[in-house]
Amino acid sequence: MFALTGCYIRPGLYDSPSSEGSVSTEVTAPPQLPHGSADSCEGIVAVVSIYVSTPTYSWDFTDPDDKMTISQSLGFLKLATGWIETEANSWNKFVDFKCDWTVNPELYYEAKMSDEILNNSGAQGIEEVWQYIAANIAPIDDIKAKFGANSVVYVLFVNTPSTYNKNSCTIVCDEGFTYPYEFCRIYCNSIDGMENPASYAHEILHTFGAPDLYKADTFGNNCGTTDDLVTYVSANLPNEIMYTTYDIDTGIPYYDKISNELTEITAYYIGWTDKSEVAEEFGMEPAKH
Ligand SMILES: [Zn+2]
Repeated sequence: MFALTGCYIRPGLYDSPSSEGSVSTEVTAPPQLPHGSADSCEGIVAVVSIYVSTPTYSWDFTDPDDKMTISQSLGFLKLATGWIETEANSWNKFVDFKCDWTVNPELYYEAKMSDEILNNSGAQGIEEVWQYIAANIAPIDDIKAKFGANSVVYVLFVNTPSTYNKNSCTIVCDEGFTYPYEFCRIYCNSIDGMENPASYAHEILHTFGAPDLYKADTFGNNCGTTDDLVTYVSANLPNEIMYTTYDIDTGIPYYDKISNELTEITAYYIGWTDKSEVAEEFGMEPAKH
């Protein structure tokens, strides 16, 4: 089974958002980070969870169902990051995600944002998230100092229903962007079911530079993947987590484990190895680490 598991956006592709309608906040100049808030997937990584209410999809933090969804989402986040930590071992790398906000409450936020943040291709919604982070969350340097972290990843959780029809989505930043905050938008439910831990891992891997391997690069934001590369991955690496987040044998999403693989091509783009034969063979862009 093939699963499209989320888009991958570099916001520089879009026109600069107008100031009209944007959130008015006093924001000090954000730090310039060449690879954004998430660099190589190594060392300690702080994960900031933001439970976002919009006018259409809000959280009721006293409602038993919503509390269950939030508890499950933390469980999936821990499972996903734990899986990446284990995968790192086989590349002789060490990564330790600090994501459990029951242990570190400063990694937990509740926010209100406009429905514009649900627009997966809208620059205005991206800007709104960045401005929220800049105005409300501790500076990246403070978070790094507190946890001894190399990287900071922000994960937005949206309380979407089972009728929702968009995929979770990740925003990455590069040198020269106004804001460095790299964030995943997790839509907790959709027509494909509850978002599963493999999808969380897939989105988080984007923040470190992993491209989607299920589609050719039509917008210049996916490391130069081609149709030939996608055909190759489909035939030879069909269980790659940047290709699918469903179980390869059963074709269904798992919720208690991740059965996908992290192969050399993804390892290369997240900084775990200096070379990917597949990326070279198909003429993909060099990794930025
Ligand atoms: Zn993706």
